[in-house]
Amino acid sequence: MKFTWFQSKLTFVIIPGANGSVVRLKLSRAALCCAASFMLLLLGTTCILAIRSLHSTVSVSLKSVEMKGRTAQLEQDIHRKNAAIERLQNDIYALSKQASEVRSQMERMKRLEQDLHKLAPGSVERRKADGQSASTAVSAGAGGMGGEAFPVTEGQTHELAAATGARYTALHAEMKELTSRLGQTKLRLQEKQERRQRTPDIWPTLSKVVTSPYGYRKDPFTKKLSFHRGIDIAGKLGDPVYAVASGIVHSVAYDKLHGHNVIIEHDKGLRTWYMHLNSTQVSQGDKVDKGQAIGQLGTTGRSTGPHLHYEVLLSGKSTDPAPYMPSDNRKKERNK
Ligand SMILES: [Zn+2]
Repeated sequence: MKFTWFQSKLTFVIIPGANGSVVRLKLSRAALCCAASFMLLLLGTTCILAIRSLHSTVSVSLKSVEMKGRTAQLEQDIHRKNAAIERLQNDIYALSKQASEVRSQMERMKRLEQDLHKLAPGSVERRKADGQSASTAVSAGAGGMGGEAFPVTEGQTHELAAATGARYTALHAEMKELTSRLGQTKLRLQEKQERRQRTPDIWPTLSKVVTSPYGYRKDPFTKKLSFHRGIDIAGKLGDPVYAVASGIVHSVAYDKLHGHNVIIEHDKGLRTWYMHLNSTQVSQGDKVDKGQAIGQLGTTGRSTGPHLHYEVLLSGKSTDPAPYMPSDNRKKERNK
């Protein structure tokens, strides 16, 4: 039944005009269906292609917009990074300048160390100062500046950063060494100061009038030759008598021969003995400093008048006090 329907034909009459001859077309239903199907297929394909073309066009437009956005973003990033690089370059330059200033300070410290070294010479050998002397360095602000400006390349930035890093490393090592040397110099100065404090090197009186030196003399009482174990210094009654070095008061005593007298124990078996004092103002076991008043000048004991008999004992034996007394102004020595 159906097959018969497909086989049946349809007649199309085409009338071109009043005078034309009539054209009759006989087409089977099957042919017509095929033609209709083909037309539908062609239409569908055309629609699909049009849609895909439209989609591509829209995609390209969207991508173009996206690319523009990304390009703008990248340009912003590059600008930001360039600004950061410029800041880093400026920081490196500032660090480089600071390294130069630290170097100058280091040179000044070395000169100071040399001065200290002269005050306390020791075993530490001075190294020759290397690099540029601070005295020859010129500050950036002094005088005029000019010339063509060349942009700094990446390579130059790396070189400057590496050179600055190396300078800081070298400065760190030098600072460490200098700190150590200054510490040793400080110790030597302290030792020297303490040694000096323990060593008699000042006059025990205000007066410097020596009435009887150390050595052989005619005894003032018997007029016979005798050995004078100390030095007699004339002075006014009540004048202060000073400890010639720091130490411990070994004894404070009185007897008819020495009068009021004080013995002070110093360093390395050294003692000083002060006789004929009018009065004493220290006690046995007291710690005394150099220049500290220990009593008043007097004429107690075997004495012809106000004076101080001053003795220096080395390992218990009297020795000439003269080497322990400066020949220049006493007051000046005391204030040192
Ligand atoms: Zn004497």
